[in-house]
Amino acid sequence: MEFRILAGRFAEIEATDADLEIQDEVADLFRDASELSTVVRFLLGRVFPAHDSRTLDVGPQLCHEAIARVAGPNVSAADVEDRLAEHGDVGEVAASYDLGGQQGLGAFTDGDSDALTVAELDATLRELAAASGDGSRETKLDLLFGLFNRCDTVQARYLSRLVLSELRIGVGEGTVRDAIADAFDAPVASVERALQVSNDYGLVAERTRDGGAAALDEMTLEVGRPVQVMLAQTGTVTDALDDWPEVAVEWKFDGARVQAHYDGDEVRLFSRNMEDVTAPLPEVVDALSAALDAPAILDGEVVAVDESGDPRPFQAVLRRFRRKHDVAKARENVKLEFHVFDCLHADGEDLLERPLVGRHDRLAALLESEELVSRLRLSDEPEEIASIEQQALDAGHEGIMLKNPESAYTPGNRGQNWLKRKPDVETLDCVVTGAEWGEGRRANLLGTFELSVRDGDGGFESIGKVATGITDEELEELTDLLEPHVRTETGTAVDIEPAVVFEVGYEEIQSSPTYGSGYALRFPRFLGVRDDKNPGDADSRERVERLHS
Ligand code: AMP
Repeated sequence: MEFRILAGRFAEIEATDADLEIQDEVADLFRDASELSTVVRFLLGRVFPAHDSRTLDVGPQLCHEAIARVAGPNVSAADVEDRLAEHGDVGEVAASYDLGGQQGLGAFTDGDSDALTVAELDATLRELAAASGDGSRETKLDLLFGLFNRCDTVQARYLSRLVLSELRIGVGEGTVRDAIADAFDAPVASVERALQVSNDYGLVAERTRDGGAAALDEMTLEVGRPVQVMLAQTGTVTDALDDWPEVAVEWKFDGARVQAHYDGDEVRLFSRNMEDVTAPLPEVVDALSAALDAPAILDGEVVAVDESGDPRPFQAVLRRFRRKHDVAKARENVKLEFHVFDCLHADGEDLLERPLVGRHDRLAALLESEELVSRLRLSDEPEEIASIEQQALDAGHEGIMLKNPESAYTPGNRGQNWLKRKPDVETLDCVVTGAEWGEGRRANLLGTFELSVRDGDGGFESIGKVATGITDEELEELTDLLEPHVRTETGTAVDIEPAVVFEVGYEEIQSSPTYGSGYALRFPRFLGVRDDKNPGDADSRERVERLHS
């Protein structure tokens, strides 16, 4: 296929507004394209598939210089930049020059062998990407010049945008997926699954064309070919408990995502954007090599820790990622831990569709290392979840992740199955107006404190109860503090005169008929006693109303 034809199709697609029409045009293009995988990648604005971290490494300046050179002896890179300041789009700038004079004879005859083909363009761009070291700038410039020199204005428009990774003709990944299904008559779900396991739109398009749905269903993960990571949304404990009978709770580590691939011989590590980060992280490689004895694809977070093992800010990890030289020295300065929380593949078997808990069991069996495997706990108790969160925070980590224990691993998907617990909104200062005596070992301690806010008339209205976030030691202190204010006792319930103010965190305020204020706090947690506040300084129902709305 000539690049001239492809650029023309790009121009048609770019000029189309309606999504469905775009999808039809893209599907037609796929049916017609001989170098299908290259066409698919170009259409998505890339030269390499997503799992391949190679880049062209062509900056705007280099591209402008190449355009200037082709545009003629009187044009400089500065002129190109002036036009860019005016147009704002490098494609328009490239197309605004009269490049026709420099074209080979092929420009004048249809289908002449001198015409730039898609395959040739792809090969040259790969050559350009491979140029490195001394003189590579000149090599890249020469190669780009050679390409632009064979372009008409339409081709130059798309070539310039392609090399600068700003193709943007209005075709997203979803459209490409649907167009592949449409062009070759395969179910969208099969195409989607194949994209998830291969992370390669070009490959999936060709497989669909050549073998239909059956060929797609045969596609599997490949050790060494990184996939998109599964993503999380923010959510609350109450959401999680509303949706799932039990929640899989895990610490949330503040570091950098790493996907580890072990082929039985070698470990390779990839960052979230598929960059190979094996060389800068030798201790992670060593730990995994020692622990693994079967091929695997693992997902986890690399965290930097200080001398005493406490986590350091995630920037410290990123510094290690970027380190190319003196890795040994960097390793001395910034210590790393790897917390593996998922297993996508084990010993020849893809596990994506297994429930989370099954994958985690497999992970634990595979690694047999408490140091490496993150701890996953199942709970349906808000209090227990809060205490796991408190442990995570006490250990210096970010908080907790809440996961659906039954969920599959869906690469690239930011679904509802992984929730990072939403940080608390503004805290409230509430007056303690009641409590309950504990049971068993805690029979002499007050717990489960009733919280109230000012009603505006000098009284107090209840807004809920707090029992979480309080250590045993704090329970003793709170009992000493509150006991003198107990007014009446009925069974284990005590009525307390308003005297002590608690600062409480919570996930959300919801309206509720259960409490006098008409509101309830979701997932309330004790944060501390406001010794500096009197009941008259506590928050009012009016503020709660404002926060709620
Ligand atoms: P955020 O970066 O705030 O969107 O949070 C999601 C990220 O938290 C993930 O992409 C991971 O890099 C990271 N993370 C840390 N701990 C975990 C965990 N236990 N499970 C999943 N992701 C985690």
